[in-house]
Amino acid sequence: MTSDNELKYWMGFDLGGTKMLAQIYDDNWEVLAKEKKRTKPGTSAKQGVDRIIDTIQDALKKADLTPKQLKGIGIGCPGPIDMEKGILLDLPNLGWEEVRLQEQVSKELGCPVAILNDVDAGTYAEYRVGAAKGTRTAIAVFAGTGIGGGCIYRGEILRGSRISAFEIGHIQVMSNGPRCGCGQRGCLESVASRLAIAAQAARTAYRGDAPNLLDNSGVDLSKIRSGALSSSIQKGDQAVEDIISEAARYIGIAVASSVNLIGPEMVVLGGGLVEAMPELFVPQVKRSANKRVMPAYRDSFEVVAAKLEDDAGVLGAALWAEHQLSPTKED
Ligand SMILES: [Zn+2]
Repeated sequence: MTSDNELKYWMGFDLGGTKMLAQIYDDNWEVLAKEKKRTKPGTSAKQGVDRIIDTIQDALKKADLTPKQLKGIGIGCPGPIDMEKGILLDLPNLGWEEVRLQEQVSKELGCPVAILNDVDAGTYAEYRVGAAKGTRTAIAVFAGTGIGGGCIYRGEILRGSRISAFEIGHIQVMSNGPRCGCGQRGCLESVASRLAIAAQAARTAYRGDAPNLLDNSGVDLSKIRSGALSSSIQKGDQAVEDIISEAARYIGIAVASSVNLIGPEMVVLGGGLVEAMPELFVPQVKRSANKRVMPAYRDSFEVVAAKLEDDAGVLGAALWAEHQLSPTKED
């Protein structure tokens, strides 16, 4: 016989483009066990879902638990999500479309499942236990390879009528700017993501204006990662610092639009770029946003660096599962 008291664990799952991670949490949100597997591109959605289930089961085995001892599983996934129906709508990197992930995982394991966008999951974790704890309205911007965002409004993830929302990376900040992956031009992501910055930095290094970067990483975009950019600035590459400042200024432009629309009291900045150089990003984004908001919103919001790092997405997914699936919620 299992009483409700024994069902005390939550699981968070982060489905990434290159790896998937399952973590089991106890009542204090401490990690009991974890399992990581590579996400295999080129496999079918069916094989992908089987691999997700295997990863969950392997994590359970490590903790010596059965699925029945989970209160629920929260799964964060890249791309647009139908949160009501638990459908992963489109995952172009893996070639998956319209995957009924919530239903399939829940049926196979016999426990409740909630699905959300991975950036929303990271934002929700910052709201529950990180830099935006206790706020009424908070937004987060994660700048890494791409740029994602999320918004928490009165304890709920802000979402659209059908799909997840707050795609701040695709606000246009430059008319006729560079082509973006979404098909438009001049989106924030096309001018301020790590890839956009690395491309500019590589050109600068090639011209001879960033000698430290050239020495350490050459002009190979895949090697010009956040840490390499940060160390070249520390060693004196002023041209690289200027590129980062300009990117932060653009993020501030998108933040200003968001402040005018939503009026958050907290803006959390995260992602690989910000983690590597918070002292460059945070003040510059704040300055740039403050200059551009309506006078009534000036200094109405704080800009801070995210508190949680790598595990924010997987923890946020588990916290969201608790928020969505707790039986006490109905009381
Ligand atoms: Zn775009």
